[in-house]
Amino acid sequence: MPSKDNARSSNGARWRSAKARLRAQGRPCWICRAFGRPDAIDYSLPPLDPGSFEADHLIPVSKGGPLYDMANLDATHRACNIWRRDRSVSEVLAIARRERQQHDGHASVCVTTDW
Ligand SMILES: [Zn+2]
Repeated sequence: MPSKDNARSSNGARWRSAKARLRAQGRPCWICRAFGRPDAIDYSLPPLDPGSFEADHLIPVSKGGPLYDMANLDATHRACNIWRRDRSVSEVLAIARRERQQHDGHASVCVTTDW
């Protein structure tokens, strides 16, 4: 049963190195930035923390995006990455635009208090 995660783990060293390069850049969360929320990532949080860093594929691997291409990777919070799933960048930006119009930047989608 092939999946994105299996593909990653089958070549874990390349994936870890791409992720480490992204981490070293210390980027903010591109999804929070789109939503106008505080976008800083605490890179010291443990991997399963909803606020921790994850490497996100801008074009999802399931839609043919390159797995290890730095141009296809950006940083997100884990919670934002889970929220996004396989939404395209343009879908995320369209949702962010609607949210910002409705709530004037108030956080309501991504980082909730339900964790
Ligand atoms: Zn975020």
